[in-house]
Amino acid sequence: MVGGGISGLVCAYALRKAGIDAQLVESSPRPGGVINSVTRDGYLLELGPQSFSSTPALRELCVDLGISDQVLQAPPHAPRYVLIGGQLRPVPLSPPAFFMSSLINSSTKWALVRDILGKSIPPDGDESVAAFVRRKFSPQLLDRLVGPFVSGIYAGDPERLSVRSAFPQLYEAEKTAGSIIRGMLRLAKSRKGPRERPVLQSFREGNETLVRALANKLGSALQTGTKVADISRQNDGTFQVSLQNRTGSESISTKSLILATPTDVTGKLLSSLDSSFESPLSSIDYAAVAVVSLGYRKQDVGHGLDGFGFLVPRSAGLRVLGSVLNSSLFPGRAPEGHALLTSFVGGTTDPAAAKLQPEELVSLVHHEISAPLSMKREPVFSNVTIWPRALPQYNLGHGDRLAAVANLCSRFPGLWLTGNYLRGPAIGSCVDQALEVAEEVRKNLAQ
Ligand SMILES: Cc1cc2nc3c(=O)[nH]c(=O)nc-3n(C[C@H](O)[C@H](O)[C@H](O)COP(=O)(O)OP(=O)(O)OC[C@H]3O[C@@H](n4cnc5c(N)ncnc54)[C@H](O)[C@@H]3O)c2cc1C
Repeated sequence: MVGGGISGLVCAYALRKAGIDAQLVESSPRPGGVINSVTRDGYLLELGPQSFSSTPALRELCVDLGISDQVLQAPPHAPRYVLIGGQLRPVPLSPPAFFMSSLINSSTKWALVRDILGKSIPPDGDESVAAFVRRKFSPQLLDRLVGPFVSGIYAGDPERLSVRSAFPQLYEAEKTAGSIIRGMLRLAKSRKGPRERPVLQSFREGNETLVRALANKLGSALQTGTKVADISRQNDGTFQVSLQNRTGSESISTKSLILATPTDVTGKLLSSLDSSFESPLSSIDYAAVAVVSLGYRKQDVGHGLDGFGFLVPRSAGLRVLGSVLNSSLFPGRAPEGHALLTSFVGGTTDPAAAKLQPEELVSLVHHEISAPLSMKREPVFSNVTIWPRALPQYNLGHGDRLAAVANLCSRFPGLWLTGNYLRGPAIGSCVDQALEVAEEVRKNLAQ
């Protein structure tokens, strides 16, 4: 297995649990990929994902790894805000709240009623999220809620993201029920087991607890600081994998090869098997994101900081995409009497932002969040992390690109792919997909 982010770690762990001698190599000195929790000056910082939504598989995994007693749940009713007209306005989270909300105009509300009572058919071709929302609802819904929500997940551009790939449930709902709302309700009813609202979670010592627990279980089956430099295929169908680390290079041969690497690496490695792999994989765009964590004295913040955080519609003209109120969600994120906030800047609509210097980013974020949060003084702590390739973009044509890759993979029995560009970037989706791949590999080896 190649790539020790959450996808690779979970897949390797599941394989070893099934009695398969999986070996995982990770190029960087630490496992976890973009999941990285660090403590600085008494602040517990998440340099990548800030929290994750619970899913049944994740919950089971935490029990299995013996870390469920370390799980923290964000307050389930913490409000989420959008910044409209310089004010933080609560996002309506239930249908009655939505119909009562002054965030949404009456023509958007009518469009929802039309969706519930009427019937529509999605277009044959791939449709962007923006075109979908304008066709079904309204430009206002796109600007105020859907656009900010899309930046919260993908740091993406709704004009380019494919609704079918990025939000497949919405596409399926319209296709099967002729209505988004009826289709989503039908889908919720068809789910097995008790209905539960996904809850945002982390661990007492940060998201990296999950990574550390998986790495501990893998033990010597995980080799960090080891990069896969090349892959070739032998006449007997096995893969020859060239590894490089500080002490030199070696080559190993394997019957099954699972790549859990980002698409640029995956494309390059696989191009030595077939050059046609490179084009569909390297044409998957990634958003660059700067993660800016700021610590304030609570007495210097006028806002009550109650809630999950806020998102910023692009029409607000700010560069901050959104901010998470870390110390309001989980205990132990900031020293006594201080608050920790993490903001995201950049994304596909503002690629230049992630090229700014850390001091410029700190000043920009402080300046932009000061008014809505009534900050009285400068932050007393700051940390900036820039991810040049933070999140894969499920843009128009993503489905065709993945189909081309799957078709090529089928010519190489024993080759499998897992990772956040396949079934959703959320940690829960990566875990689900990695477990499915492990199960397919297990079945394949048992044949
Ligand atoms: C800023 C940010 C905020 C996010 N926020 C959230 C959130 O709030 N909630 C949520 O659920 N998700 C969030 N996500 C998304 C989620 O964290 C990621 O999609 C997920 O962690 C990706 O895991 P992965 O294993 O697929 O990929 P990665 O974490 O990218 O792992 C790939 C691994 O492959 C390794 N590798 C690369 N090349 C080689 C090579 N040649 N040889 C060996 N190893 C190699 C890399 O070093 C890396 O460790 C966020 C992501 C980012 C960046």
